[in-house]
Amino acid sequence: MTSAIAVAFGLVLGSFLNVVIARLPEHRSLWAPRSACPGCGAPIAWYDNIPLVSFALLRARCRRCAARISWQYPFVEATTGALFGYAWWTFGPTPEFVVAAALLAALVAITVIDLRHQIIPDAITLPGILAGVTANVATRHVGWADLALGIALGGGVFFVVIVASGGGMGAGDMKLGAMLGAFLGWKMGLIALLVGVVAGGLCAGVLMALGLRGRKDAIPFGPFLALGGAAALFWGEGVVQWYVAGLGM
Ligand SMILES: [Zn+2]
Repeated sequence: MTSAIAVAFGLVLGSFLNVVIARLPEHRSLWAPRSACPGCGAPIAWYDNIPLVSFALLRARCRRCAARISWQYPFVEATTGALFGYAWWTFGPTPEFVVAAALLAALVAITVIDLRHQIIPDAITLPGILAGVTANVATRHVGWADLALGIALGGGVFFVVIVASGGGMGAGDMKLGAMLGAFLGWKMGLIALLVGVVAGGLCAGVLMALGLRGRKDAIPFGPFLALGGAAALFWGEGVVQWYVAGLGM
């Protein structure tokens, strides 16, 4: 029952993340004016703004002008709902759930914004670093030294890559790396980077093999880092324990 509430909360927050995704890259206010149809400019009524339900009832079209509504909206809502449900199932009614929900919401917004605009907004990552530090200090999930090392490593790895490659990665990736370190600590932060690099490499390889991308085409790395962050959040501790047990330590 309570996990249904977590899913519902995720759906509603996902609806807000759609606003963040549409407005943040254009530096528009998140709070005003109300959401309007990009086709005809008509304000969207509350009953046409219910996560998933309205999209289905309206058959992906504006009630007034019949302009197509992007699949991005229900996708972001459903993804956030599913992630929140899974986080509740994993962490239960604990402070860890709140921390996980904050991180996951930030990662969903970053993923879609980076895919659409090839930027990772400072307006998410910089408060995100602060939120991660605050959350870990408040819950004592990760100690100070672990936290500081996480931020330094998470950002530092990208700093080295940026300097060495002359700009193969963006400063946005660096700040996202630091944010993951702030939320997850250095061990899980490194696992997030590792998963991100492997997933990004595999995806780039497949795209190049299919001829969809050339060697020089930039592929945004934020979504893969976000994937790594979510994987480390949910399964990182388990993998480390399994590995340590396998070594007989
Ligand atoms: Zn319209």
